[in-house]
Amino acid sequence: MNKIAIAIHGGAGENSEFIEANYAGYLEGLRNAIEHGHQLLVDGASAVDAVEATVQILEDNPLFNAGRGAALNSDGEVEMDAAIMDGSNRSAGSVSMVTQVKNPITLARKVMDNTKHVHIAGYGALRLAKDHELELMHKDYFIVERQLNDLKDEKSYGHGTVGCVALDSQGNMAAGTSTGGITNSLPGRVGDSCMIGAGCYADSNCASSCTGDGEVIITNVIAHKVALLMELKGMTLQEACDYTINNPNQPIAGDVGIVSVNQYGEIAFSFNCDRMHRASIDRTGELVVDIYQSDSLLKPF
Ligand code: ASP
Repeated sequence: MNKIAIAIHGGAGENSEFIEANYAGYLEGLRNAIEHGHQLLVDGASAVDAVEATVQILEDNPLFNAGRGAALNSDGEVEMDAAIMDGSNRSAGSVSMVTQVKNPITLARKVMDNTKHVHIAGYGALRLAKDHELELMHKDYFIVERQLNDLKDEKSYGHGTVGCVALDSQGNMAAGTSTGGITNSLPGRVGDSCMIGAGCYADSNCASSCTGDGEVIITNVIAHKVALLMELKGMTLQEACDYTINNPNQPIAGDVGIVSVNQYGEIAFSFNCDRMHRASIDRTGELVVDIYQSDSLLKPF
């Protein structure tokens, strides 16, 4: 069989009592999603299809900040962002300020496949979802107790995201990212997750999905930088991810996590904070499911 590989993240940042209390549930959610996505690839699915389906599973899981369980803005409302990119031809679709749509990643896919645009926001995104008869939910569906508590706690800076990268049996890669953004953000704030090159990027070098402080992921153009470092500097995938996050000449003032795959089915995780919820099945079939930092993962430059 040709090499296939898939990796996901479910957000990066500080540890919290909620994460510790729900540790087993998070591991189970990550494992379910990665095994489902991997099976699709084994069955011959394209990287884009596997990424979309895997992100959907994470969006439906209320433990993660995307779809059901999304963060609440300062008005107590959910506004979601998502992006998907096909590395085989660098086509992409993304959406922001999405309400009611059960699976924003599928709406991003519609933008990619069914419009001549890359990004659709707000009321236009909702209209497109209705035009394509995507599943819509009452706004209460998205709101979970954890996010209500985070919004009440003024000191809380809740955030998180889900993402997936995959290499299919044809050698093509894709990336997808979906988020509820940051707790207590200004209404209308749009983060990195739906910005191609920042929180999501795929080409023939690699596919990457990011999580963390969206504003610094945008200004450091994180996902695209990984691909450029590989292409122009000849770095390995892991070196490119680590350098992007830990470049001493241009320190990043925030939490950032990246998950990437390359055309050889190698997978890299890199993050500069307490934890990144993550899972992968690489070209050798090895399953990894983890949350906290481990010595082997972060190599400071
Ligand atoms: N990057 C996301 C955003 O800024 C949040 C996160 O991944 O934690 O919207």
